[in-house]
Amino acid sequence: MSQASLLSSPIEYLKGVGPLRADLLKKELEIYTFGDLLQHFPHRHIDKTQVSTIASIRPEQDFIQVKGVLRGLEVIGERRAKRLVAQLQDETGQLELAWFQGINWVQKNLVEGGMFLVFGRVSFFNGRAQIVHPEIEPYVAVAQGQKSLLEPVYSSTEKLKSRGLNGKQIGKLTQGLFQQISEREVPENLPASLLKDRPSRWEAFRQIHFPTSNANYKKALERLMFEELFIAQVRLNLIKIQRHKNSKGHRFEKVGDYFNNFYNQYLPFELTGAQKRVIKEIRVDTAKGYQMNRLLQGDVGSGKTMIALLAMLIAADNGFQSCIMAPTEILAQQHYAGLGELLKSMPLEIALLTGSTKIAERRRILKGLAEDTIHFVVGTHAIIEEVVQFKNLGLAVIDEQHRFGVAQRAQLWKKSTIPPHVLVMTATPIPRTLAMTAFGDLDYSVMDELPPGRQVIKTVHRYETARASVMDFVKTEITKGRQAYFVYPLIEESEKLSFEDLMQGYEQVKSYFPEPKYKISMVHGRQKNIEKETNMKRFVSGDTQILVGTTVIEVGVNVPNASVMVIESSEKFGLSQLHQLRGRVGRGSEQSYCILLSSVKASREAKERLKIMCTTSDGFVIAEKDLELRGPGDIDGTRQSGALNFKLANILNNRDTLELAKDAAVALCEKDPSLQLPEHASLRQFLAIQKNKIGWGKIA
Ligand code: ADP
Ligand code: MG
Repeated sequence: MSQASLLSSPIEYLKGVGPLRADLLKKELEIYTFGDLLQHFPHRHIDKTQVSTIASIRPEQDFIQVKGVLRGLEVIGERRAKRLVAQLQDETGQLELAWFQGINWVQKNLVEGGMFLVFGRVSFFNGRAQIVHPEIEPYVAVAQGQKSLLEPVYSSTEKLKSRGLNGKQIGKLTQGLFQQISEREVPENLPASLLKDRPSRWEAFRQIHFPTSNANYKKALERLMFEELFIAQVRLNLIKIQRHKNSKGHRFEKVGDYFNNFYNQYLPFELTGAQKRVIKEIRVDTAKGYQMNRLLQGDVGSGKTMIALLAMLIAADNGFQSCIMAPTEILAQQHYAGLGELLKSMPLEIALLTGSTKIAERRRILKGLAEDTIHFVVGTHAIIEEVVQFKNLGLAVIDEQHRFGVAQRAQLWKKSTIPPHVLVMTATPIPRTLAMTAFGDLDYSVMDELPPGRQVIKTVHRYETARASVMDFVKTEITKGRQAYFVYPLIEESEKLSFEDLMQGYEQVKSYFPEPKYKISMVHGRQKNIEKETNMKRFVSGDTQILVGTTVIEVGVNVPNASVMVIESSEKFGLSQLHQLRGRVGRGSEQSYCILLSSVKASREAKERLKIMCTTSDGFVIAEKDLELRGPGDIDGTRQSGALNFKLANILNNRDTLELAKDAAVALCEKDPSLQLPEHASLRQFLAIQKNKIGWGKIA
């Protein structure tokens, strides 16, 4: 048998498995082959020499292991409260054990008066220690003088247990597996330079299953986690390198007069450190001759528009046109007005092209773009997708649109032979760790710094019972000449119930702020676009003081005079959405406020979210908390990515290892992008095998 094929042997051929158990192993744990079993890692080890006394248990301890005599075994309670309880007694005290599920099965394996070893998470109930659903097994004394022995415990399932494969019995299979394999089956895949303080791959596999000491176990675990993250990072980097190699791009060779004149004469403020760094990244990237495909993450208000403008000036310096696309017409208008103001003394033509551009003007613009008399065009991307022909488009900026997929982008310019550089800007912060794994194959920049002197938005959480005083507060702000938002959750625009909530809310706001003294606009997803735009514009121009709406107002709009954001039923929003909404205020010089209204009955987790909002305004911190609360599977804006599914590593808990792995992978790929050096042969081989590995077991 060759080396690779032994680990790809179907699991039924392992001694002690057979067809029935093999079926269950496949179904329950996705273990199809010897190799899968090798990678079914124990979730803990029993160390029989490490037993605590019951009296020493403290509430702050998490998991404990104790041994004692089992007493008072009985089933109590009725129906859903039915449970099996027992007391475990050692010479220092006693501890309650309880089971709510699988009572019959558990009971069968327990004997009153027997000596048992128990492991589990302690909780305290009325001052008494208890373990719910402990791991429990008959205690077998450790032989005199025996050194600590770490026995692996594997995750299993009820079905497997009933077939005689509990967590320890799976360990027996693994032991059998190790008798058949040797280092040949588990060859090294890391280059020697990364192995200085790490065990070999083979040694790490042995030690993670059957460690000879705690320290060895830790080293093995650390090495295998590092390997997982490193391999993933190498893959992402190789994809990026391939993309650069295969894509032709316009070479922006120089920084010329447009950029320099603007920078020296018209730049209205000093750039932040983050802005300087990012524009440099873009400059270097666009000079290389491949197509830039850059995602720019920057918190709300971090000044992404200026980055877009500076990049567009570099394009102009090299004789190229640029476009900037916004998700809504209002946003496009705002960009047009803002850029127009900044560029008013520069010899550059800039145009606005949206759905409401009049026909004659539209013709003029299309002609100007085709003949290269217009340098910059601002618009909604729908329009640019359809008809616009540029003479020589060099840069496309896509604002506030992280969902703008790679495929969409490819389609946009499939006619031209050399595609423009693409800069996608998004204000939905994604934690750095997640971005590194999810976007590792893109060119990626972060702006994690706000311009100086920003006022922090005062954020408070109030229960709905305090609405009257909230309304009074809003009234005083409006009396000072400010404007206010009221936002209602409408997850699905078609959702009838929340639509009625919105209407009710509107009536309520109207009764506090009666016409004609106060003027209110309303926007929601059921309105026609034109109606939405009109209402929005009235608020933007200050014609109305209050905007009642759903989350359609979320993206990008800039009304510096608005100083209050009231979010109704805020417990129904996710953290990043709350952060986006809050970012609509605090854009002027006035102190701004965000008031999060919620029901008293909001869940604990929801209240936790609101508390986070009240204590920090840093989008990256919020994103990090969001990740902790929700887990990486489901964060907005991350792509479905196999890169996130690690067996051992966890990007939240192993940040340091991830950073190490990333740096090592980048350095390696830079030095040897085709993995031709002899010291990278094992890595190359490993990646090739992984790539070609077909799950024959899963097909059969
Ligand atoms: P966002 O990243 O949310 O798109 P904007 O580009 O709209 O942010 O910038 C928000 C505000 O900050 C704008 O009024 C802009 O002029 C201002 N701004 C941007 N960069 C700086 C800076 N370096 N110093 C001071 N103000 C800045
Ligand atoms: Mg913006």
